[in-house]
Amino acid sequence: MSSFPTTARVVIIGGGVVGASSLYHLAKAGWTDCVLLEKNELTAGSTWHAAGNCPSFSTSWAIMNMQRYSLQLYAGLADAVDYPMNYHVTGSVRLAHSTNRMMEFERARGMGRYQGLGIEMMSVSDIKDRYPFIETHDLAGGLWDPDDGDIDPAQLTQALAKGARDLGARIERFCPATGISRENGEWIVQTDKGDIRCEFVVNAAGYYAQRVGEWFRPYGGRTVPMAVMSHQYFMTGEIPELVENTRQNGKLPLLRDVDTSYYLRQEKHGFNLGPYERNCRAHWVTPDDQMPDDFSFQLYPDDLDRLEWYIEDAMARVPLLGASGVGRVINGPIPYAPDGLPLVGPMPGVPNAFEACVFTFGITQGGGAGKVLAEWITEGQTEWDMWAIDPRRYTDYTDHDHCVAKARETYGHEYSMHFPHHEWPAGRGKKLATVHDRQVAAGAQFGAFNGWERPVWYAKDGDDTSLEGTETWARSGPWEPRVREECEAVRDTAGIIAITGFSRYLVKGPGARDWVDSLTASRLPKPGKISLAYFPDSRGRILTEMSVMVHSDDEVGFITAAGAQWHDFEILSRQAPDGIEITDNTLQAECLLVTGPGSRDMLAPLADGHDLSAPWLTVSPAGTVAGQQCAMVRVSFAGELGWEIHCDPATAPAIWDAVTAAGARPFGMYALDSLRLEKGYRAWKGDLSTDYSLLQGGLDRFTRFDKDFPGKAALEKEQQQGLTKRFAVMTLDNPGDCDAPYMATVWKDGEIVGEVTSGGWGYRVGKSIALGLVRPDLGAAGTAVDIDIFGQMFAATVQGDGALWDPTNQRLRA
Ligand SMILES: Cc1cc2nc3c(=O)[nH]c(=O)nc-3n(C[C@H](O)[C@H](O)[C@H](O)COP(=O)(O)OP(=O)(O)OC[C@H]3O[C@@H](n4cnc5c(N)ncnc54)[C@H](O)[C@@H]3O)c2cc1C
Repeated sequence: MSSFPTTARVVIIGGGVVGASSLYHLAKAGWTDCVLLEKNELTAGSTWHAAGNCPSFSTSWAIMNMQRYSLQLYAGLADAVDYPMNYHVTGSVRLAHSTNRMMEFERARGMGRYQGLGIEMMSVSDIKDRYPFIETHDLAGGLWDPDDGDIDPAQLTQALAKGARDLGARIERFCPATGISRENGEWIVQTDKGDIRCEFVVNAAGYYAQRVGEWFRPYGGRTVPMAVMSHQYFMTGEIPELVENTRQNGKLPLLRDVDTSYYLRQEKHGFNLGPYERNCRAHWVTPDDQMPDDFSFQLYPDDLDRLEWYIEDAMARVPLLGASGVGRVINGPIPYAPDGLPLVGPMPGVPNAFEACVFTFGITQGGGAGKVLAEWITEGQTEWDMWAIDPRRYTDYTDHDHCVAKARETYGHEYSMHFPHHEWPAGRGKKLATVHDRQVAAGAQFGAFNGWERPVWYAKDGDDTSLEGTETWARSGPWEPRVREECEAVRDTAGIIAITGFSRYLVKGPGARDWVDSLTASRLPKPGKISLAYFPDSRGRILTEMSVMVHSDDEVGFITAAGAQWHDFEILSRQAPDGIEITDNTLQAECLLVTGPGSRDMLAPLADGHDLSAPWLTVSPAGTVAGQQCAMVRVSFAGELGWEIHCDPATAPAIWDAVTAAGARPFGMYALDSLRLEKGYRAWKGDLSTDYSLLQGGLDRFTRFDKDFPGKAALEKEQQQGLTKRFAVMTLDNPGDCDAPYMATVWKDGEIVGEVTSGGWGYRVGKSIALGLVRPDLGAAGTAVDIDIFGQMFAATVQGDGALWDPTNQRLRA
């Protein structure tokens, strides 16, 4: 091997499965001048001791994409790189103890079918056929994932490493990165063997990712949001019945009892049992328990007491498990981000640095993660929208306590169902509105939006506000009558909602307006007006949507979703030319939306210096409401006459008090979501994502082909060639108990012809609404389609691509 490399295009820090896969995919993309640094031997972190289970199942579209790709890659990898591996595709059986669980499976099956996976539902007798040793008396059914199996994680990593090396990439083992610095736009990665200058750095350091991440703080970085949990499985000795069964029928499928929370796998001729226990344990989270500098190939002490309940339950389910005692126990570190999903993508705030770390299921996701990471670096964009794992989805609220509380909650509920009205309770209360106490007093039930607590609905005395009450896929629940009342108040009189944490930026500098104009496909508004602007990537896909106010040629203001705070800031700041300054003013203002046909009459006696007769989309920059200085912007995401009042957070309580005293009813985010669906307004990263082009997303009227913008050529080509799908508003003809969830499939004549991107009940129109994309020939109003909602087909009608409520905006313009 030649001498130690002093330069490289990319340096990857960490040689687990994810680092190796990233290197392999970079090399496959032609980026062979890349170096991976591993402090010990490859796999020394979490990878060596992983159980190696490889499901394709997920209820996240993006994660399913990533896992599907991994499994397809692994199936051909041994031959592709000439490195034999133990990879057993046994299929798996997931057990359901309840109808709700069967509905979750139905949803995953629907998504799987759309992605070409063979996931199938199972009856109780199907389960017994596939898994003869099981007790089924208390089961509702199951799910068959034919692509599931187990792979040897070390062999997988070595195979990826070999593939990368064969293509010319380099791996330096026993070579810890010890620090980084930046000079002349290049990174210098320090090691004991010498420095490596490079263009890009990747933090793929697994459970050490937070430590490595700290090196980037002087360059704009933040503390990596994660905590390390202990995860255990144990193996039994040989069981004669399994020897015999394997001889006759082959290896048993993997079994997951997700309601109890464990997996059970055949390992040689014994079992491997791995629970995700509620009484779980985080490690290295207190000052007296620091993570060692080097934990390579080490484990925590066995702690089987924690698993006792799960072991007993599993033995009752598969009595054969009790035929042999506990053999080897593995108790290893597993990193958790607050939501349990990894961090893959641009490192927030840091130029030319990326993350591919904090994986809880890195073996089954490693292949796809390498593809995604390589796309980020080589193309600056990914084939599939990967917001679900984008590091920028977390911002400044993820302090240590939050990360630990969330990691415990997420680990303990690893297999739990994510119901649409269930607001997970751990790590909450990070950012409160100044009107929070008033919201509480009015009965608010809260959800977290980029760490901000926002009311989702307002309960009345006697309403069931328990968490258990939210464990349903159905539209109805304790919230439903209140959400209806809130929507009706907005329709008939007026409501008030604090849209706390709206992200807001100011772009300043010579030619700021023209520069912003060059980034968006949309026409910028005249000074004194506000409008939506869409920002495409080079493929013409929807990178983001922001509300824009042009203050002057040299000053432009932006408002965007709370969750988009770091993402959208980077879209602007990454490309800012010299002289353009961008500031994040999110904390400097509160937004109170007062909306409904009565809002003008309510606000008129309170407002001074604002012209309430000025037309829709007018910005009134200065004046007062209830004696407090504020701007008023005449827009309403609820689709009624209304104003956003933008004020100093300190003055928001006085305005809130005056407006509610005048009769505006507080309403929550569930009502706002229902109201916006009726208007066909798109939601960020649901309806608006890089999975769709501007034209597919039905944003033609915001796309100005008479000017230049990124992705224009791609959109022109798409226009000439014809769209493959097109945005549509659909309504269910005879709705059931549930509205259509994200990625429910749309059918016509026995074929999948599209997907739902958001759904819910519209109380003003009295319909279950689904926004989504369908084959273009089906986009005309009146077209009959079917939508698969949790496994049941519902007849639906396409309503075109406009609003169902007030389609000509008369109420907004009143
Ligand atoms: C008991 C257990 C069972 C599991 N079972 C499964 C399973 O069945 N299926 C599944 O998908 N996942 C499973 N996992 C999770 C899986 O192990 C991890 O998600 C995966 O191994 C993460 O891979 P990685 O490459 O991100 O991190 P790691 O494997 O931890 O690799 C990170 C590497 O970075 C190196 N490193 C750190 N700092 C530096 C530095 N400064 N310089 C150079 N190198 C550095 C480390 O030495 C390490 O090798 C399991 C985990 C545990 C604990």
